[in-house]
This record gives sequence, C-alpha cells and structure tokens, in this order.
Amino acid sequence: MGKIVGTAVLLSLSLAAASEAQPLSAKWEELTASDFVKAQQASRGTCALPFGILEKHGPAGVLGTDLINIRFSTLKATKDEYVIVFPEYYVGQIFEAKHQPGTIAYSTHLQLEMLQETVAEMARNGCQKIVIVNGHGGNTALIQYFAQTQLDSPKDYLVYTLSALGVPQGTAGTAPSRPGVDGHAGEGEVSNLMASRPEIAHPERSSTESGADLNRLELPEGVYTGIWWYAKFPNHYQGNAASATAVRGQATTDAIAARIANALRAIKRDETGPRLQKEFFERAAKPRL
Ligand SMILES: [Zn+2]
Repeated sequence: MGKIVGTAVLLSLSLAAASEAQPLSAKWEELTASDFVKAQQASRGTCALPFGILEKHGPAGVLGTDLINIRFSTLKATKDEYVIVFPEYYVGQIFEAKHQPGTIAYSTHLQLEMLQETVAEMARNGCQKIVIVNGHGGNTALIQYFAQTQLDSPKDYLVYTLSALGVPQGTAGTAPSRPGVDGHAGEGEVSNLMASRPEIAHPERSSTESGADLNRLELPEGVYTGIWWYAKFPNHYQGNAASATAVRGQATTDAIAARIANALRAIKRDETGPRLQKEFFERAAKPRL
C-alpha cells in the first residue's frame, strides 16, 4: 500500500516537474487560468493584439491572409520577447471590399467600441501595456485614431500601436521577383502566407484576375476620397502572386518578427509613457497653466 502511495506521489511529482519545464504558451486561449497568471508575470503585463481582417485577397490568397500572417510573425516574435498574444481579432475597417465575397465589414461605431472593450478587458486581466500589431493596411487610420482617443478619459493602461506591414527595403531574401508584383494580395503577401500555410495559398490562380492599377480617378496631390482604392483596384487585388514562394515568405516573416520583437522589448522597458499618461490625466482633470 505504502509503496503504491509512494509511487503515486513520485509520479505526480514528476508530472509537476514536466509541466514546470514546459514553456508557457504565448496564446491567451491556450493558457489555463493559473498559467495565465504566470504568463502575466513573465510578460510583465505586456500583451499583443494582432489585428487583421476578413477580406478578399485576390485569386491566390485566402480571406484571413492578413490575420494569419500577422499572428504568425507576432507569435514568432514572442520566442524572442515573451508577451501574451490575444486570440484572432478582425473587427476592423474594410468597407472598400464590401463588393467582394467573404468580406466582413462591421459598422464604424462597432469597430471602435469593440476595440475599446477588448483593450479594457485585457487591462482588467493585467495587461498594463497593450500593443496593437497591425497586419491590414485598411486598419491604419482606425488604429491611429483609436490610439488618440485613449486620452479621452483616464486609463490605468497604455495602448501602443505597431505597423508591421512590409520590411525595410534591402532586407535579404525579401525582394519581389520583378517590379510591380507586390501589393494587396500580391506576391509578397501570398509568399508570407506560404511561409506558414502553403496548403491554403493558390499562386497558380494568380493570373485568373487582373491586379493592374486602373488609375481611373485623377485628382491633384493631397486630395483624398474613400473611393480611391476601388478606382485603382476594383478586383481588390494589386500586383501578381504567380511567383510567390515560401522561401521569400520565410525571409519576410522572419524580418517582420524581428521588428515586432524589437518593439515589444522597447515597450516592455518603457516607463516614461505610463508616467506621462498618468500625469496628463491628472492635469486634464483640472487644467491650469
Ligand atoms: Zn488587408
């Protein structure tokens, strides 16, 4: 009897040691509640919110391309700089693709409210620094505006944003096969998709639609209108993904991951931002010179 109990104790001890040795997952949804508490300590209260979209990605890419790609690079970055990564998030701005199948275009107020409630809930769970990592060009203005609106009322957390689209020119292995093939759902984006999910990319279908710039709306520099993109690329496809390769995608997603890791490292260290935001809210409550 004593021997059996002893064995059971030894077994549970060795199981505990094994689970101890396993690194914490960076994925919010794959942590137990008690591991989540440990993860918040390991990340020093820093959490990433990779932000994608559901939209057509030409004939070669899938609807979730931006989300798949940005999560892939963000998760890769956490191997260098550990943070907790929020689950798939795609409540973004994509009205310009409403004419294409599979697009989910939430209303304007919902985009902002959903993002606010999401970061507030992340903060309530210990994320003092929240880094929105953008993977979709159409979200750029929304995210920047959202970051500005954070000063509207006092918060005990800080929102940072990171544009993780593209890599610095000249990064080894990331150049297009020829000029003009990159762009929305073009060679670069589909290559990135192939780095993690080659089985769902279809570069062989790339020429079934045109990704040419139709340039149908000529307006003086500085003039903006929402229909600009449709005027150029009505197929919601820019460039040509026929020569997309996993090798190029690997080099690009590695470079993007390095950039994200670098940003996360700096944000984790940042003490000035939180201090100044606190000071700002105190002064804003009672403005004086
Ligand atoms: Zn996009």
